[in-house]
Amino acid sequence: MSDPNPPLASRRMEAVRAASGAFWDFLVGQEYERRRAGPGVIDMSLGDPHEMPPAGFVDALKTWAEPKSVDWFAYKVSEPEARAAVARSLIAWRGLPFESEDIAMTTGAFGAIAVALSATVDPGDEVILNLPPWFNYEPMIVNLGAEPVKVRVREADFDLDLAAIDAAITPNTRMVIVNTPNNPTGRIYPPATLQGLADILTAASTRNGRTIYLLADEPYSRLIFEGKSFPSPSAYYANTMISYSYGKVLLTPGQRIGFLALAPDMPAREAMRESIVLAQLAGGFLFPNALLQHAIADLDKLSIDLSALQEKRDVLYAGLRSAGYEVHRPEATFYLLPKSPLPDDEAFCARLADRGLLVLPGRVRQAPGRFRITFTASMAMIEAALPILAKVMAEARREAS
Ligand code: PLP
Repeated sequence: MSDPNPPLASRRMEAVRAASGAFWDFLVGQEYERRRAGPGVIDMSLGDPHEMPPAGFVDALKTWAEPKSVDWFAYKVSEPEARAAVARSLIAWRGLPFESEDIAMTTGAFGAIAVALSATVDPGDEVILNLPPWFNYEPMIVNLGAEPVKVRVREADFDLDLAAIDAAITPNTRMVIVNTPNNPTGRIYPPATLQGLADILTAASTRNGRTIYLLADEPYSRLIFEGKSFPSPSAYYANTMISYSYGKVLLTPGQRIGFLALAPDMPAREAMRESIVLAQLAGGFLFPNALLQHAIADLDKLSIDLSALQEKRDVLYAGLRSAGYEVHRPEATFYLLPKSPLPDDEAFCARLADRGLLVLPGRVRQAPGRFRITFTASMAMIEAALPILAKVMAEARREAS
């Protein structure tokens, strides 16, 4: 039998692979590839688009692809016009006085998170993340020789467990990562939680004599339902950096653009601005392409159809509930996280897959006993998925009785 974990080209990549855990095995595993290539398969496992991009997206790219000067496609770092467009948008949207010099243009939230970590975290530092986490926080932390420290959110309401975060802080803690609205729980952390977290981090930074940064990972902050408000951690804690991606609101994750923004009242911001540019250069020119930066003021005005997304959430949620699933209604994002009717969520997902529906087993996202189903799917896909979900639930119930 072949070794499932053959030696890699460096010890560091072996550590990164280990930190990537079950999600990596799922992604590179031949099983997913094989299933996904099957005829008529309904793939609701990942946040990829299944419909054409929003109106205006292609026009914006076409308009800005036309060079207006000889340096149109020259090397581009964080371009002043792009930063200014993002700052204007953030001011209007968040009501906070963001400055364009505090915006770094990045290759999506992926790039923003990598840059935030490498600008602030030294080998041996600890970074606290909340479970279930986005799959790539741990590999990115380990890639820097730092230590991921895991704290689970509260099971009852998926809110942050502030007492557990407080208890996990040590003199080596350098950063806490908070993903709001959350993938995969769909939770928006409320103001009282964010204020409580800010108080904990302020006290611990003073105690440690070293700043603990908060990374607010907010790529879903425009995908909010029922017009709910979105409180950003940056309004509560001055040492906050925001990572953002246009890949979610436009559902164009292959066009890599986003930003890292410093909270408007961050102290020692000059040093942070310089650290970020150095991290982007040392990381291998981690700036978005010229075309996307030229187009950003136009792209920033666009969105997928939020009411259509909300309708998909409602149809999927109602269908799951009526089939007997235990599931909560997400306030934001495009994920639902129901409980698996079988204790082994992978076995349950394999049954769905046998009938042509792919979803993400909770275990691979450190949410055992659940599964994640993504409604970036078309309505036709959702309508075809619901009878499969109902059938497999009925089967599981029959076996249990
Ligand atoms: N952070 C979270 C919580 C995500 O869900 C994702 C994408 O899945 C990212 C960051 C990265 O976003 P992007 O690929 O658009 O850079």
